[in-house]
Amino acid sequence: SLLALTVVMTGLSTTAQQTLNPTIERRVDALLRSMTLQEKVGQMAQVSIESLGTGEGNNFRFSEKMRDAVVNYKVGSILNNPGYPPTPDAWNRIVGEIQSAAAGTPRRIPVLYGLDDIHGANYVNGSTLFPQQIGQAATWNRELVRQAGVVTAYEGRAAGVPWTFSPVLDLGVNPLWPRLWEGFGEDPFLVSELGAAFVRGVQDPLGAKDKLIVSLKHYMAYSDPKSGKDRTDAWIPEHYLREYHLPAYVAAVKAGARNVMVNSALINGVPTHVNKQILTDILKGELGFTGFIVTDWQDIENVYRRDRMTNSIKEAIALAINAGNDMSMIPYDYKSFTTDLIALVKEGKVKQSRIDDAVRRILRVKMEIGLFEMPVTNVRDYPKFGGKEHAQIAYNTAAESMTLLKNERGTLPLRAGARVLVTGPNANSLRALNGGWTYTWQGERTDEIAAGRYHTIVDALREKMGAANVTHVPGVLYSKQGKYFEDSVVSIDAAVQAAAGADYVLLCIGENSYTETPGNTNDLNLSDNQLALARALQATGKPVVLILNEGRPRIISRIEPGAAAIVHTYLPGNYGADALVDILTGAVNPSGKLPITYPRYANDLAPYHHKPSEGATNPQGGETAPQFPFGFGLSYTQFTYSALRIGRTAYAPTDTLEVSVTVANTGGREGKEVVQLFVSDLVASLTPDITRLRGFEKIALRPGESRTVRFRLPVKALAFVGTDLRKHVEAGTFEVRVGGLKGTFSVGKDLVF
Ligand code: BGC
Repeated sequence: SLLALTVVMTGLSTTAQQTLNPTIERRVDALLRSMTLQEKVGQMAQVSIESLGTGEGNNFRFSEKMRDAVVNYKVGSILNNPGYPPTPDAWNRIVGEIQSAAAGTPRRIPVLYGLDDIHGANYVNGSTLFPQQIGQAATWNRELVRQAGVVTAYEGRAAGVPWTFSPVLDLGVNPLWPRLWEGFGEDPFLVSELGAAFVRGVQDPLGAKDKLIVSLKHYMAYSDPKSGKDRTDAWIPEHYLREYHLPAYVAAVKAGARNVMVNSALINGVPTHVNKQILTDILKGELGFTGFIVTDWQDIENVYRRDRMTNSIKEAIALAINAGNDMSMIPYDYKSFTTDLIALVKEGKVKQSRIDDAVRRILRVKMEIGLFEMPVTNVRDYPKFGGKEHAQIAYNTAAESMTLLKNERGTLPLRAGARVLVTGPNANSLRALNGGWTYTWQGERTDEIAAGRYHTIVDALREKMGAANVTHVPGVLYSKQGKYFEDSVVSIDAAVQAAAGADYVLLCIGENSYTETPGNTNDLNLSDNQLALARALQATGKPVVLILNEGRPRIISRIEPGAAAIVHTYLPGNYGADALVDILTGAVNPSGKLPITYPRYANDLAPYHHKPSEGATNPQGGETAPQFPFGFGLSYTQFTYSALRIGRTAYAPTDTLEVSVTVANTGGREGKEVVQLFVSDLVASLTPDITRLRGFEKIALRPGESRTVRFRLPVKALAFVGTDLRKHVEAGTFEVRVGGLKGTFSVGKDLVF
């Protein structure tokens, strides 16, 4: 039986309340009562594996430091991979050694190992790698995203690591930001729906032997720094934090998420790590979150060193722990962290009750996931690890993510028996297909590690179209020495010459792998080299298909007019090339839709729902038209929308809005369509967003088949957060838009809640 938690409500929006298991709560209380202060603060420390031993991958060996951390300092958590991905067997050994050390301590509390399983268990050699989250979002398919979570959890636990630092719930509203691809795109509703689906896939049912706990990150508004650079400050008033950035956390906490990681940057001048209102009042209070909060990498130290808010690390520890952080990703110096924290308690600067609350949360989660009963696993109990069934799911996800952005005169699918030139820096690289967080942090060793096991675009084309029909000339390659996405010309002339013998040119462009601060960019335009290669190939008169393989939308407005077709692959993972080639040849009908606005100009980067401005009232048209709008994507068949019906012409704010529409496949082949419901509040006391996504459904239709899709949502879901931080539904007219059809309804009176 579950006991509902009592939460202190602040009078703001009522949201989730996570429930607790009374048996576990009693066990936690008993354990907590038996612990010394040293043991307690140890639980709050998380250390990186590289600092505890030497060697890479399977050859990693712990030094005495591991025992010092776990046995002497009682460190409760370890993270990261040893430089190179160990096989699951080696992971079982590594985790096993840690747990035997922990088993020798008086309280025998197992260590909670955590890893960035960002697109599958990407730090485990031989695991199944999925499209990165931005590609998963492009499927607009909740079930596929849930399944990605299921596989990630299974393979992560097979290695013995019960905690993943995913999903990323940061809104992709700033295309400059180097982590845009780690999230589910720019829209709060899309991110909420997919985030919750992923959480369920990873965690449900909590405690099963093939489940993990998630970490929702990076709480919150990390993704919208003014400069576009990673870990820099954002200025966002609280009503906008609540309107855009908070909802995905609300949804994921409701879905049961057990851990949250904090935004490494600053909001309105305050490092999020010391923001008590955001961490304690909102997350633990309003949202009723009963799991634990972990800091991001070295971020308590950053409060002192980077943000210059304190005169010492010790003071920063006090601020951060008092703000609500439960565990510190230190990642190296567990000795002074624990020593300082003990001193702070003795000096009365951190209350014993705050320590108890933090440790209670950590122990609770350790018990909930069955870590005490199953501190180690054996990959032999996980026969599906890296196998065909999982590969198929990763392939399906990649196939549904591919987004056809342009297809002039039916250029695609490629004619059977055609000869193709495949060129560009992304043509022959598993590294570029996978992006960062692949085997290593920046993903720079992917080709060395995965070569021969999976297909690059060149490999997949050769296999499916016949080697004789495929010519590969790179033209431009990424430079090894430069920044992660810099490239250099190999020979544009050679590519142009090869085009003469081809029926189509497949130009694979975009970015090389990167993540976080090393991925900062000063220019969103596609590189000069790649633009030059594209122009030279377009001048040959051959149909040029642009294959975009990039983590953020690089500007292509100068080469788009000369492209016969464009396919966006995002970062589709190890089965991405197979999926892409099936789209190119027509074996699979594309059904991906952009989860972001694809900008046309580097200086015009607003997301679709932004506020109207003078001379640019319609973001989907006129001067500020993006290259491709949010939600856009073509198919090889035709979908026709009709009979848009709105349940009533007038609603009370407490009613449920009903919208239905009929979608028919009026083209020649089977296909999937994402039916998207947009609603605009036409007039409001706070300038309304131009429009907002409020519902979506992905459906499959055979030629000639039609289906009526029904959306039901409370009128309250259309509320906006006012400057008074309350939610408002205001009387007036709302416009509904589905697949090019429009209708209106009115709301009779105001509601504030
Ligand atoms: C990143 C997090 C990540 C952590 C642990 C940090 O630098 O910001 O997203 O989970 O490292 O690897």
